[in-house]
Amino acid sequence: MGHVDNGKSTIVQSLTGVWTSRHSEELRRGITIRIGYADASFYECPTCEPPASYSTSKTCPNGHGPTKFLRTVSFVDCPGHHSLMVTMLSGAAIMDGSMFVVSANVKTPQAQDREHMLAAQMIGLRNMIVVQNKIDVVDRQRAKANYEEIKNFTKGTVAEDSPVIPVSAQHKLNMDALIWAIQEKIPTPKRDHSVDSRMSILRSFDVNKPGTEAEQLVGGVVGGSIVQGVFKRGDEIEIRPGIKTESTNKTVYEPLIAKVGALQAGGGEVKTATPGGLVAVGTDLDPSVTKSDGLVGNVLGRAGTLPPILEKVSLSVDLFEKAVGTEQLMPVQKIKTNEPLVLNAGTAVTSGIVVSAREDLADVSLKKPICAEAGSKVALSRRIGDSWRLIGFGTIR
Ligand code: GDP
Ligand code: MG
Repeated sequence: MGHVDNGKSTIVQSLTGVWTSRHSEELRRGITIRIGYADASFYECPTCEPPASYSTSKTCPNGHGPTKFLRTVSFVDCPGHHSLMVTMLSGAAIMDGSMFVVSANVKTPQAQDREHMLAAQMIGLRNMIVVQNKIDVVDRQRAKANYEEIKNFTKGTVAEDSPVIPVSAQHKLNMDALIWAIQEKIPTPKRDHSVDSRMSILRSFDVNKPGTEAEQLVGGVVGGSIVQGVFKRGDEIEIRPGIKTESTNKTVYEPLIAKVGALQAGGGEVKTATPGGLVAVGTDLDPSVTKSDGLVGNVLGRAGTLPPILEKVSLSVDLFEKAVGTEQLMPVQKIKTNEPLVLNAGTAVTSGIVVSAREDLADVSLKKPICAEAGSKVALSRRIGDSWRLIGFGTIR
């Protein structure tokens, strides 16, 4: 997270070797439009002292021979652009920790720094590390002044006690210390594998090349992160809310039932996939359904175990005092009946109209239904000026 151009994509590239901004449109505009993700494996040299012992290499960068594998970490690269805030939120729901990236050569906080920090608090992200990037273009004095700016900015936030790691992502300086901080500050959470399996769909694809013979076609593939539980090859799964079907003037969503074929996690084929990484699930679905991210925002689980599909949500609302990302930090007005809002639930994004608003409660009729459990959190954005601004969050009642 962090303001555009602070070096988020460069840090991910420096750790994983992957430049996540793959789409030509992103390259042209220089921003990460779709949430891009990449994996890195961390290793430790048994001879070197930390942080020099940490690397992403199977052999010690300081010449001590083979290193010890620690774990594989998946990075989700977030867009920094205002209008893409909503996209970032959809990724934040599945993260075990976060890196907040600031640029040492500009005053912290920048406009989107506040926005991202509030979003992090709202989503409930803990385990945050502050990365002070571009240390190569400042002198010691400026680096120290920026450190004070960071400490002021993070006071009272989830990052209040976070380590601040100075790096140059571009020159790969101090990246070992960053890995060390990730190891210390973002431990792999204990997962309960016995609960109902759930995956939030972040991407979906048709992997067939144009012109493939019908008999050679493979089923649709969905990608995302397992929120809880386990998925195995051969599992009977359900995807909700599913696909739109028109029946007598009314739009209804029909859940999809499928079977898990190949499973991929951490760059390889696996028989069982668990939370903690990004997973691709091969299915026997018609690939026309999964192509071009057609199933993004859906929830995947074992058939018959998913929460209901909601066309209307009743929310207990918590609003921010100030609208996020606005120039003069405008006070947030109460939610009014008939006003349009944008809602983010898991990886789903939908607009809705408030049909009734009382003190801290709001009923919202959704343009596109969502599949979500009672008690889950929904981000709320309102149109202010010509953009959608995050104004708070709701809990589904
Ligand atoms: P993002 O918008 O936060 O993803 O930022 P990018 O990773 O796209 O980086 C923005 C610009 O800053 C690019 O031109 C990078 O080459 C440059 N940059 C990134 N890291 C560093 C660094 O450590 N030092 C310097 N001098 N430039 C950097
Ligand atoms: Mg970027």
